[in-house]
Amino acid sequence: MTKTTQRDIDVATWKVPLSDIDLRDEDIERVVATLRTRWLSTGPRIQEFEETFAARVGARHAIAVSNGTTALHLAYRAADVGPGDEVIVPSLTFVATANAALYTGAKVVFADVESVDRPVVSARTIAERVTPRTKAVCVMHYGGHGCAMEPIGELCRERGLFLIEDAAHAPGGRWGGRPLGSWGQVGCFSFFPNKNLTTGEGGMVVTGSDALADRIRLWRSHGMTTLSWDRHKGHASGYDVVELGYNYRLDEIRAALGLGQLARLAANNERRAARSQELRGALGAEEGISFPFPPADPGATYHILPALLDRAGAREPFRRRLQELGVQSSVHYPPVHRFRIYREREGSEGCPLPVTEDFTAREVTLPLYPTMNANDVSTVIEAVREALAASREPSGTPRGDAS
Ligand SMILES: *Cc1c(COP(=O)(O)O)cnc(C)c1O
Repeated sequence: MTKTTQRDIDVATWKVPLSDIDLRDEDIERVVATLRTRWLSTGPRIQEFEETFAARVGARHAIAVSNGTTALHLAYRAADVGPGDEVIVPSLTFVATANAALYTGAKVVFADVESVDRPVVSARTIAERVTPRTKAVCVMHYGGHGCAMEPIGELCRERGLFLIEDAAHAPGGRWGGRPLGSWGQVGCFSFFPNKNLTTGEGGMVVTGSDALADRIRLWRSHGMTTLSWDRHKGHASGYDVVELGYNYRLDEIRAALGLGQLARLAANNERRAARSQELRGALGAEEGISFPFPPADPGATYHILPALLDRAGAREPFRRRLQELGVQSSVHYPPVHRFRIYREREGSEGCPLPVTEDFTAREVTLPLYPTMNANDVSTVIEAVREALAASREPSGTPRGDAS
């Protein structure tokens, strides 16, 4: 009997989905073997996953957590931010980058991106937002393309700011030869299914500091001084609760999945790079569309393929035609400062984000994933050409209209 998989359902809906996971029989067997051990919470697989991940991203410590958002919350706690403090984050990011700072009571201040060709925050756009109350900065490596980290690191050192990297798009990525996630005091990763490495739900905090690693481990598990795994192994009996913590733990089942994914991360990032280059090579010269970042960006992880239409008014007809042709698309991202909970907070006035607004009004994300085959690539190329033609038709907004 053949089972219906999510992939079958997606294929029925989409000829080419936006993303897909590289899940193999060996992954499923590893998960089943873990279930058979009957030890499902923190244990040897978590330890192996943390150690392998730390080595992979050049970090001294890696702490597995329940998702990327809890990783960010722990990072902001490590930064010791709270009411009265300001935290600078991009608005061009997934909302969790900002929300996790709000959990601490700190005020979120949005920095613009450098340009539509390099839509990440920079030392210049961060410096514009620094005030005497600024205590931390969180950068986000959009699409897996590194922010220019040397000047950002220098700015943070000079001003005494705690530097966090939201590296959810960038496991295995580098900037200037140094792994993304290892530039700041704390780096955060997400293993959600659309990310370059997935455990279902899951995340990782990395740090080079022994002291921060100890505190993050405490907060991850209720602020308790011992884990049930240590007690199970006879290493400890009682425990104390020394700080206010959470239950942000990952489990053995997910760690088993992550270990297989981690072993294939480098190869899968290369496959993403190759498919991205094929798509950009075929579409880069088309009228009405362009692509941010250089086509071959050393160290990038090619998490998504963002494209930029010439006019904001073209986006809806363009995406509608892609959908009719069976090609899934998305928008990364609606800018966070435009969401109601951020609009209603004081402090956004006088902080214009013109580049973010322009970019997010014209951006469309095209399919990109490591298991994409030559047929998928040509389907996307043909569909984009047709959708560009459709978005130019006179029923849409006239050309030259201000976008
Ligand atoms: C996915 C993502 C997150 C949140 O991760 P979860 O694991 O879904 O909580 C945070 N920041 C960015 C940039 C992301 O892409």
